[in-house]
Amino acid sequence: MKYVIDFLEGSKEQADLLGGKGANLAEMTKLKLPVPTGFTITTEACLAYLKEKEQVLKELNEEIQVHIHSMEKSTAKKFGNVADPLLVSVRSGSKFSMPGMMDTILNLGLNDETVLGLAKKTSDERFAYDCYRRLLQMFGDVVCGIDKNRFEEQLDFYKSKNNYHSDTEMQAADWQELVTVYKDIFLEVIHQPFPQDPYEQLTLAVEAVFRSWNNRRAITYRRLHDISDSLGTAVNIQEMVFGNFGTDSGTGVAFTRNPATGDKGIFGEFLLNAQGEDVVAGVRTPQPISQLETLMPEVYQEFLKISHLLECHYKDMQDIEFTIENRKLYILQTRNGKRTAKSAFKVCIQLVEEGIISKKEAIQRINPTMVTQLLHPVFEPDELEKATIFAKGLPASPGAASGNIYFTAEGAKKASEQGEKVILIRQETSPEDIEGMVVSEAIVTSRGGMTSHAAVVARGMGVCCVAGCEEIYVDEFLEQATAGNVILRQGEMISVDGTTGTIYRGSIPYVEGDEWQLLETITDWAKEEASIGVKANAETPADIKTALKLGAEGIGLARTEHMFFGEKRIFEMRKMILAENEESLMKPLNNLKEFQKEDFRTMFTLLKGKACTIRLLDPPLHEFLPQTEEEIAHLASATQRTIEEINHRIEELHEQNPMLGHRGCRLAVTTPQIYEMQVAAIIESALEISQKETDSVIVPEIMIPLIGSQAEMKWLRERLEQTVQSIFSKTGQAIAYKIGTMLEIPRACLTAEKIAEVADFFSFGTNDLTQLTYGFSRDDSGKFISAYQEKKLLKEDPFQHIDEDGVGILMKMAVDKIRSYDATIKIGVCGEVGGDPQSIRFLKKIGVDYISCSPYRIPSAILTIAQE
Ligand code: PEP
Ligand code: MG
Repeated sequence: MKYVIDFLEGSKEQADLLGGKGANLAEMTKLKLPVPTGFTITTEACLAYLKEKEQVLKELNEEIQVHIHSMEKSTAKKFGNVADPLLVSVRSGSKFSMPGMMDTILNLGLNDETVLGLAKKTSDERFAYDCYRRLLQMFGDVVCGIDKNRFEEQLDFYKSKNNYHSDTEMQAADWQELVTVYKDIFLEVIHQPFPQDPYEQLTLAVEAVFRSWNNRRAITYRRLHDISDSLGTAVNIQEMVFGNFGTDSGTGVAFTRNPATGDKGIFGEFLLNAQGEDVVAGVRTPQPISQLETLMPEVYQEFLKISHLLECHYKDMQDIEFTIENRKLYILQTRNGKRTAKSAFKVCIQLVEEGIISKKEAIQRINPTMVTQLLHPVFEPDELEKATIFAKGLPASPGAASGNIYFTAEGAKKASEQGEKVILIRQETSPEDIEGMVVSEAIVTSRGGMTSHAAVVARGMGVCCVAGCEEIYVDEFLEQATAGNVILRQGEMISVDGTTGTIYRGSIPYVEGDEWQLLETITDWAKEEASIGVKANAETPADIKTALKLGAEGIGLARTEHMFFGEKRIFEMRKMILAENEESLMKPLNNLKEFQKEDFRTMFTLLKGKACTIRLLDPPLHEFLPQTEEEIAHLASATQRTIEEINHRIEELHEQNPMLGHRGCRLAVTTPQIYEMQVAAIIESALEISQKETDSVIVPEIMIPLIGSQAEMKWLRERLEQTVQSIFSKTGQAIAYKIGTMLEIPRACLTAEKIAEVADFFSFGTNDLTQLTYGFSRDDSGKFISAYQEKKLLKEDPFQHIDEDGVGILMKMAVDKIRSYDATIKIGVCGEVGGDPQSIRFLKKIGVDYISCSPYRIPSAILTIAQE
C-alpha cells in the first residue's frame, strides 16, 4: 500500500485520505501558490499503524525516506546535513478540522550539529538556538509527554535570573544555555537524551501524531462533533519557513471575511518575529492584519490577492495561515473558516450577491441548528447602563451571558453538574479545557487574540466569549481574577458581553437577539426550494405575528383551549362545566362565544387569507376547574351554589386516566353544544372579516381532535354542518370552509381511508399518537426515558424525534390509506416532532403536505425541507 503522497500529486477532493489540511496543501500546490514543499502521510497509514505498528512503520519509513530525498532535491538542502540542513514541520490533519486537538512539531531536523549549520547559513546564531529550544520544547511535550510547563518554568526562571522582561532580550548565548537546560529535562524526566538523528526524530514525531488520534481530548472533540473514530489522521511533513527570522518575518492567521460578524474584508492578525503556533496558542497578543499593510505593503497586497483567489476557488470564506520569511509570503494552510451563525448567514448572502454561489448552494450550507444561534441574546440596554464594568477585552464570540466564575475546566464542569450557570475564566484555554468550555455559558481569557483557541472554539460552539482581556490578572492557582483593585473569587457572578467584549460584575437580565433580516433573506430563498409547507402552531396575536415574520405560510394548529385561560374566560368556562341544564349551559357558552369571536376576528385579520386550522376543544374539562379553596369559594358564590356542591362536581369530573378519558371529540359527543358554539364563532367571525377585508379569501379549517372512528367523525360532522348551514341561511351569506380531523389515535391511522370519506383534511398529532402507540404517558415519561436511553433500550426520546420504526410506520400506513381514497386530501403534522429537523426529513419522505410547529422553529424547518 502507498502510505505517502506528495503535495504535487493530491487534490482537494481527497480529504478522506489526506485529511483536510493535506488535501488543501496539495490543492494550493496545484494552484501554484507559494506553499513550502512537502508530502502527506495518509489517514490509511495512521489506521494501519494503530493496528499493526511494526510492519507499517517499516514500510512507511522507507517511503518517507524517498520523499525526504525528493524534498532535498527541490530545496537543495539536506536532512541532517550540518552545512545546510533541511528542517521540516510535522502537523496532523484529519478530514474534519479539529482545532488544537492534535499536535504540531516545528524545526524538526535540528540537533547539536545542524543548529550550528543553521546559525552559520543564516548568520544568526540567536535565531538558530531559539529554533532549537522550540523544537526541544514541542518534541518533549508532544512526543515524550513531558509537561510543557517544565520548559516554561525554566525559561521564566532564566529570564528573571537575568532580569529580562521579554523573550526578545534573550541573546544567542542565553538560548544556547537554555538548550542545555532543556536537554537535561529530557534526561531527568524520560531518562533518555533528546534524539539527535533527524530520521529518528521524524519517525517518533509521526508516531506521536498517529497516537494523538486516540488521546482523550481528540476523542471528546469527536464525540461532541459527531466525527467518526474510524477516520484516522494524516500527517503533513513540510519544509520549514521561518516567521521568527527577525522583524521582516512573521506569522499570522486571517479570515477572508469576518468570522464573528460576517462583515466583508480580510480579518486577521499576525505577530512579527514569531513562529507557527504563537498566534493560535494565544501566548502573545497579536496585531490586526491591517497593520501589515503599513509594515510590508507588497506582502499585504499579495496576501489579499491570494485570499481572493482562494475564496473564489473554494467558493467559501477561507481561514488562512501564513508565514512571512524575510518579506516572502508563504501559505501554510487554507480551510473553510469556522464562523458564528450570524457570519454564516451574512457570508452566504454576500457570496450569492457576488455571484460566487447560487441561492440553492447558499441554502445547502446553512445548518438548521444555526438559526437558534442567530438570534443571540443581548443584555437589556437599560440594565446595562446601570451595570459595573469589571474589564474589557476582545469581542471574540457574540452573545450575552451571566454566570459564576470558575478558573479550571474541572471546576466549571463540577459546578455545572450541580446545576450552576458557569463562566470559565483562564489565562488562555487549551484543548484540555474542552470539557469545561462545553458546559460554560461564556468563556473569558486574559491572553490571546481573535483567533486564539478560546475564540475559535467558542465561536464554533456558539458560546459567548471575550478573549485577550489583558487588564485582568488571572491567578488560576489562587482561583481569583484581579482587574485594577477589584478581586473576584471563584463562584462570584459576572456577566459577559461577547458582542462588545465587555465584562460586568453581577448578573444582568438579557433579551433575545435580533437578526430577523438575515433570516428573512435566507428563508425566502429556502421557501422557493421547499417542497412541503411550513405552518405554525399559534393562537395568540403575538405568536401569530412572530410566526408570519419568521416565514410561516399560515396556522396549522390553533389550540382553542389556550383561549379559555384568561381570568374572565375561565370563569365562564367553569360556569359552563357546572351547568346541569340547557339554560345554565347556554348562558356561559354564549359569553364564551363572544370571547372566541374576538380572538378569531384578530386571527383572520392578521392572517389575511392565509391557511388557518382551528382545533376545537381538546383537554379533559377538569383542567379548567378551580384548584384553590379561594377559587372554589368564589365560584360557589358567583353561581349561587355551596362549596360542597362545587367540590362534589369536581369529584364527579375526576378521572383515573384523563388523557384516555372524557376529552377531545368525546366532549362533543356528550355535550355537542360546546363544539357548536365554537364552530358558530369561527364561521360568524370569518364572515364578518371576509366582508370587511374583501381582498382576502378566508377558508377556515375546523379540526376535530381525538377522532378514532368514521362513525364519530360522521356524526360530529353532520351536526357541525347543520350549525354552519343555519348561520348561512340566517345571514344570507356563505363562505368555503373545511372540516377535518387529527390523526392521533392509532385506530384512526388504521382506518384512515374510512375516515377520509368524511374528513376534508388530516393533521397528525404525534404527541398523542406517540403516547398511544408506545403506551408512554407524555406527561410522565420523563421519569424513565433517560433510564431507557442509558441502558440503550431507546436511542432517542420519541416525543422529541419521531420513532420512525413504530409510530412512523403507522403514519406511513395512514398516509397511504388516505391517498388510496383521495390523492388530493391535505395531510399535515402538528405534534412537536413537526419542528425537529431530523423528524422533518422522515415526515417529508412519507409524503405529508406540510408540517406545523412553534414559531421560533419555523426558519430551521423551512431550511431543513429546502435542503433535502
Ligand atoms: C398532538 O397530540 O400531537 C397535538 C398536536 O395535540 P396536543 O399536543 O394539543 O394534544
Ligand atoms: Mg393531541
